[in-house]
Amino acid sequence: MLWLRERQLPFRFLGNGTNVIVADRGLAMGVIRVTRMGTFRARRTRAGALVEAGAGVALKTMIRQCAARGLSGLERLFGIPGTVGGALKMNAGSFGVSISDCLISVKLMDEEGEVLTRQRHEMGFGYRTSSFGDRECILEATFELKHADPRTIKAEMERVWRERLGKHPMEMASAGSVFRNRDGDPCWKYIDRAGLRGFSIGNASVSEKHPNFIVNRGGASASDVLRLIETVKLRVREATGVALEEEVELWGFNE
Ligand SMILES: Cc1cc2nc3c(=O)[nH]c(=O)nc-3n(C[C@H](O)[C@H](O)[C@H](O)COP(=O)(O)OP(=O)(O)OC[C@H]3O[C@@H](n4cnc5c(N)ncnc54)[C@H](O)[C@@H]3O)c2cc1C
Repeated sequence: MLWLRERQLPFRFLGNGTNVIVADRGLAMGVIRVTRMGTFRARRTRAGALVEAGAGVALKTMIRQCAARGLSGLERLFGIPGTVGGALKMNAGSFGVSISDCLISVKLMDEEGEVLTRQRHEMGFGYRTSSFGDRECILEATFELKHADPRTIKAEMERVWRERLGKHPMEMASAGSVFRNRDGDPCWKYIDRAGLRGFSIGNASVSEKHPNFIVNRGGASASDVLRLIETVKLRVREATGVALEEEVELWGFNE
């Protein structure tokens, strides 16, 4: 990071890339993939444990490790395909729980290369947002989890996984929810109301199963996906008056 900064080269951090759509021509910038920070430690407390997880740990791995130790709090996030770092930046969540809910603090490296610790209230968490800057690298996070029966935790993981399989097009490539829900109001309803379920551009389609997903039916280009996103926004606005806002990040399209 410092090498790139000293040369005034633009850069971004990447976890598993599950919330990012990159332009077909690629990126004119450095990409620092943060998947090697794989620490996982759990320190017992009276009520449960403090869990420290590296930014590169896959969310599902962390949740499985917690379940095996009888530590509850994050199991409803099971099935989100990102890393701990990406999930914190996006304040990822599902089934009424967000990753920030049981977060205590985050260790990060700022633009100057200084490592610092930020407490939960300093991270500006909101619905699928946080205040981490694009040039701040999340290194590690500490969560406070509670004791529970591992069988109950695993049953909840299975329940949310089954629900996910039933509702989301998990069998096809996608970048998850494309648009942000509006104050708890699911935006797939507006896409449906505009008659766009199944609508396609090239090989990119609005999912028949869940209209807030755009799926790749095989060989879709990023520009197909972008044109589809723009068309959905336009048609939804015309049909319902609602202005949809992207949850996925679009990288390299305006350079
Ligand atoms: C099938 C599918 C289902 C999904 N379901 C959900 C869901 O239910 N709920 C939900 O919230 N999301 C969901 N997502 C979206 C996505 O998985 C989450 O946003 C996830 O948290 C992103 O993690 P990632 O590691 O892939 O991050 P990336 O996509 O790699 O990056 C996302 C953002 O985080 C930044 N970032 C990543 N790592 C770091 C780091 N270490 N330091 C600083 N910045 C960093 C990136 O620069 C980028 O801005 C889904 C995606 C898919 C494909």
